[in-house]
Amino acid sequence: MSQTLLEMAKDLVMAQIAAHRLSPDDMHTVLQQTYASLKALQAQEDVNGSVAVVTPETPPERVNWRKSITKQRVTCLECGASFKQLSVRHLKEHALDGRSYRIKYGIPRVQSLAAKEITARRKEIVQRSRPWEKAPTFVKAQEERKREQTAVAQRKKTTRAKASGNNRR
Ligand SMILES: [Zn+2]
Repeated sequence: MSQTLLEMAKDLVMAQIAAHRLSPDDMHTVLQQTYASLKALQAQEDVNGSVAVVTPETPPERVNWRKSITKQRVTCLECGASFKQLSVRHLKEHALDGRSYRIKYGIPRVQSLAAKEITARRKEIVQRSRPWEKAPTFVKAQEERKREQTAVAQRKKTTRAKASGNNRR
């Protein structure tokens, strides 16, 4: 029976991935949660002999995570301690990591768990170093553009030379 439950959970999660509502990275966590929910549902079914209405157990109470991240501080929603940056080591104390913490509180994956000013500074550094310009595809595109521009410039030069040549005659 538990095999069937696991298959059901897998199908539900795969459907979410197919609908692009879930990244494959989050699959494992969600799969476990779905499986737990189904198991709880089955336990209730066994006791009552009918399917009980079970509200999904994911967010216990809707905490507004936005309030936990301010300009100077990020507050841990588990214990209320605040930091410049919510470290992996701290989250480990709550048996969480960046991914499960975000899922638990409905925080988007792109949201960094750090004070806003730190995030802003980091972005600035990334902008300045422009790591994507070192990517082979970008470099190739740049080279092609340069080649094209040189070709256009040379064509212009030739037409201009021809034109002035005509004028002289
Ligand atoms: Zn904490």
